[in-house]
Amino acid sequence: MTPRVALIAHDHKKDDIVALAGEYAEVLRRCELVATGTTGGRIADAHGLSVERMLSGPHGGDLQIGARLAVGGVDIVIFLRDPMTPQPHEPDINALVRACDVHNVPCATNIATARLILDALVRRLDEGKSA
Ligand code: PGA
Repeated sequence: MTPRVALIAHDHKKDDIVALAGEYAEVLRRCELVATGTTGGRIADAHGLSVERMLSGPHGGDLQIGARLAVGGVDIVIFLRDPMTPQPHEPDINALVRACDVHNVPCATNIATARLILDALVRRLDEGKSA
């Protein structure tokens, strides 16, 4: 099955997620990508990846991704949160991370963890296994 990967980054982390997506573009091209609105637009524009865009995070995009995840529609979440800036949609952010824990979905909230997860995904895809 094609891995389904969700990508989200807060404003101060958007350059980081765009760089990460570039680094892993080859593997991400083999995945179904979903993202919050602005993050998805940045990644699609920068790397020509096909990304399904939800609403922007503060307008409910995190909740949309969380709802999909809760019914088994997301396999991996890369969620680069900004730990230094209060966010208006903090409850939505917590809901998405909680949904990952409830449903045992890998969730990277920083670049180091994201790399570990994506490296594992590269290996699995190269072995011909699904994520
Ligand atoms: P955005 O949403 O990608 O639309 O900026 C991310 C967020 O702030 O949760």
